[in-house]
Amino acid sequence: MINVSKLKKGIVIDHITQGYGYKIFEQLGLDKLDDVVVLMRNVDSEKMGKKDLIKIETDLKLNFDVLSIIDPGITITYVIDGERVKKVKLAPPQQVTGILTCKNPRCITNQEHIDNITFRLIDAEKKLYACEYCDARTSL
Ligand SMILES: [Zn+2]
Repeated sequence: MINVSKLKKGIVIDHITQGYGYKIFEQLGLDKLDDVVVLMRNVDSEKMGKKDLIKIETDLKLNFDVLSIIDPGITITYVIDGERVKKVKLAPPQQVTGILTCKNPRCITNQEHIDNITFRLIDAEKKLYACEYCDARTSL
């Protein structure tokens, strides 16, 4: 495994599903940061076989909703002075707006091209969401 110098301060996004690292990198806008960002792909993992990993050497306000939709299994660790201070596990958000689109072809959001639809969580385990307009179910 590649050894990346120990992080003094920042955020480690770990246990990313293999192949999702770049997607998360893009969604969080990490390409626009001036700080050191490391995207590691296809890292060996005991639990997952292979995984992706991101290290960000700065404080950054992460959009947990976006992250939990892209890859709910990830863990986020905050590092200060080389110590892991906080670990965050994601849970599916109660509602999401502007991320999902309705799969029901007869839904008004598809007829009228409405954006920013809100979906509310119906089943956390299955990650099922219901459209605010027609109640059709969509899973993440
Ligand atoms: Zn709908």
